[in-house]
Amino acid sequence: MYNKKMHHLGSVRSVIRELFEFGKKRAQEVGADKVYDFSLGNPNVPAPDCVNEAIKDLVTNMDSCALHGYTSAQGDFNVRKAIADYINERFGRKLNADSIYMTVGAAASLCITLRALNEGNDEFVTVAPFFPEYTVFTEATGGTLKVVPIKQDDFQVDLVEFEKAINARTKGVILNSPNNPSGVVYTEDTIKGLTAILDNKSKEYGHPIYLISDEPYRELVYGDVKVPYLMNYYDNTIVCYSYSKSLSLPGERIGYIALSDKLQEERDIYAAVCGAGRALGYVCAPSLMQRVVEKCLRATPDIEQYRKNRDLIYDTLCSYGYTCIHPDGAFYLFVKALEDDANKFCDRAKQLGLLIVPGDTFGAPGYCRISYCVSYDMIKRSLPAFKELIESYK
Ligand code: PLP
Repeated sequence: MYNKKMHHLGSVRSVIRELFEFGKKRAQEVGADKVYDFSLGNPNVPAPDCVNEAIKDLVTNMDSCALHGYTSAQGDFNVRKAIADYINERFGRKLNADSIYMTVGAAASLCITLRALNEGNDEFVTVAPFFPEYTVFTEATGGTLKVVPIKQDDFQVDLVEFEKAINARTKGVILNSPNNPSGVVYTEDTIKGLTAILDNKSKEYGHPIYLISDEPYRELVYGDVKVPYLMNYYDNTIVCYSYSKSLSLPGERIGYIALSDKLQEERDIYAAVCGAGRALGYVCAPSLMQRVVEKCLRATPDIEQYRKNRDLIYDTLCSYGYTCIHPDGAFYLFVKALEDDANKFCDRAKQLGLLIVPGDTFGAPGYCRISYCVSYDMIKRSLPAFKELIESYK
């Protein structure tokens, strides 16, 4: 016998994966040039040069047993120190090596953090639209995820609804900015409003409510838009960072958890993070990749390519008459479906070769997500299909 819940999770493919698989099959039937796959958030911009240079240098010059051997469970000390120093320099914090726990990406950072905080059946809150795996990760710890509905006008946070969602059982809030799937960056005003509520509610209930900042897209912002660093607004912040998108390394699985230097019971929370990492088997993140990110702390991929893609697809779809949320970051465009049921709309798009994801998966029915981390050429070729799609509704 086996665990039914795990069996279910392993048997149902996510809508996104389903679409991706459909796209591969369809390309064989009608030709790859007639399938416009906007389903996955897989970076198409190569990792910056320093990544390959660091790998070559490490493989050539570092002792092989040390390079490929176990590091400390929480990650190599020098790597953690370098990351802490970089955060301090960039955001004016006072972190040290023991504020950092190396992980296999943001997914693991979130699972470890939730496991470390949840005392049993605690509640966590997030804001729609949101990354659907938050539900899976939270429920795997025995907790529940409460979702604040979307703020239709600008996709920031509806602070009235947010305040209503917090109660005595709330252990933490998961926030993701730049946001997957909307591409929106939460403004400083939003963050100040939200953290003021958390401060008041923590006092009212007599326990901290932790702010978990899920940051795989932190470096992917366009123009002079700033992404507020949440530790600088709220003491009880835990950052779940990943290099999957910022260095275009999603398959290499590397990221970290950073605890604020002002976190209440910081040493105990760090011990709980180490314990959760141990209980989940998430110890000693890939040693080579730890060293690579240490050498590439200041690097970012060529986000100019993403910006060009964003401008092309956003401007063109708006000119055709689509309602699109303006994305300041990440590589997603969130578009209003042309009928109430976004699933039906996406099915009609599919007939034209356009693979886009219904927003229901992200807690935003009536919308759909377009991942524009694809070639500029594919976006250009897809535009007549988007035009045909909107015209079919007229
Ligand atoms: N959080 C968000 C919002 C994401 O979009 C993703 C991946 O797409 C993750 C977490 C997981 O990222 P990682 O590949 O670092 O585990």
